[in-house]
Amino acid sequence: MARATYVAGVTVFDGHRLRRRQGVLIEDERIEWVGPHVRAPRESRGARSVDGAGRTLSPGLVDCHVHLNFDGGADFAGEAAGMDVALATIKATANARRHLANGVTTVRDLGGLGTCALAGAIEQGVVPGPRLVAAGRALTVTGGHGHNVAFAREVDGADDVRRAVREEIKAGATAIKVVATGGVLTPGIGATFTAFTPSEIGAAVDEAHKWGRGVAAHAIGGEGVGHAVRAGVDSVEHCVQLTPAVARMMRDQGTFRGPTLCAAFGMLEHPAEVPDYAIEKIRSVIDDAERSQAVSLRAGVRHVCSTDAGTPFNPHGGAPRELARLVSWGMRPLDAMVVGTSSGAELLRVPDIGVIDVGALADLVLYDANPVDDIDALQSPRTVWKGGEVVGGRAPGVRSAG
Ligand SMILES: [Zn+2]
Repeated sequence: MARATYVAGVTVFDGHRLRRRQGVLIEDERIEWVGPHVRAPRESRGARSVDGAGRTLSPGLVDCHVHLNFDGGADFAGEAAGMDVALATIKATANARRHLANGVTTVRDLGGLGTCALAGAIEQGVVPGPRLVAAGRALTVTGGHGHNVAFAREVDGADDVRRAVREEIKAGATAIKVVATGGVLTPGIGATFTAFTPSEIGAAVDEAHKWGRGVAAHAIGGEGVGHAVRAGVDSVEHCVQLTPAVARMMRDQGTFRGPTLCAAFGMLEHPAEVPDYAIEKIRSVIDDAERSQAVSLRAGVRHVCSTDAGTPFNPHGGAPRELARLVSWGMRPLDAMVVGTSSGAELLRVPDIGVIDVGALADLVLYDANPVDDIDALQSPRTVWKGGEVVGGRAPGVRSAG
């Protein structure tokens, strides 16, 4: 058995709220004890001690929308053009590590090649990486958003959508992605175009849920957002055009919203490098995105951290930036921390992560400052643990207690 680790006198953000002057005992891959440091258990004495004074311990961050096949260069379509399964898998393996280094211990890939195999390899310890929920290939209509990239498959009609869901699950997918509208990064299709019909999305949701898989819908236009929400998807990614009525429906049903602000600003801040068609489209919807953020916060829609990493100027490991963006668009920092941890864990259906609690997996990040006081503290994690092992951070801060 590996030696235990005890984090002493630390402020704990437990996935829901803050507690001061706590102690957290890690044994093997799980949290063995958590409580007031003054009542530290006997077992903490023989453990490796980590000084938590003045520092904050959080569950590892959960990024609910990444594309591990892509590096985040300026020309997404160009990067896609040269991609085969082998290169895609190699890129995914390299990009996965970047999440760990930034305190992100679980991610969901929403469209990728080789990602289901990578998820297994990470779980078996073959390569380092965050816990990986993989959608395999995304489902899009013929000629729809993503038809030009290998990680999406074209499918039409409710029966074929149902078959495609089964095939992705057979190939190892642990989530399902449907592309409900047009998109910014595919040339020749409007961003707000309504793609799948309600019956096609309904078939995907029904089939995926039968297999215990969550469904993420890419949706930018208001009609497509409405179709996805009414069909009962688990999260709406981008969710740019949102009416108060649909927002209330999301709140009542518990549909999560992943605004992907890193993707939007990655493009908006690099207009000279990103292809013109993408810049034009993102500029045409950014005001709607900001309005919908306000509408959803007012309605009480639950959010998740979705970076869409791999898109232009949106490198992997950006969950801390996404949470800071959400705060700059009106979310309270404490709420952003809930979004980045326990909410993501709930959406992804990964048990025992996203919280600091006895019996939970020891996926933890130690920060020098308190992210609830300053959300930018997330950008320099001191120590990152996954399953009780130090996997990232700039200083382990672990010393032997003898
Ligand atoms: Zn995406």
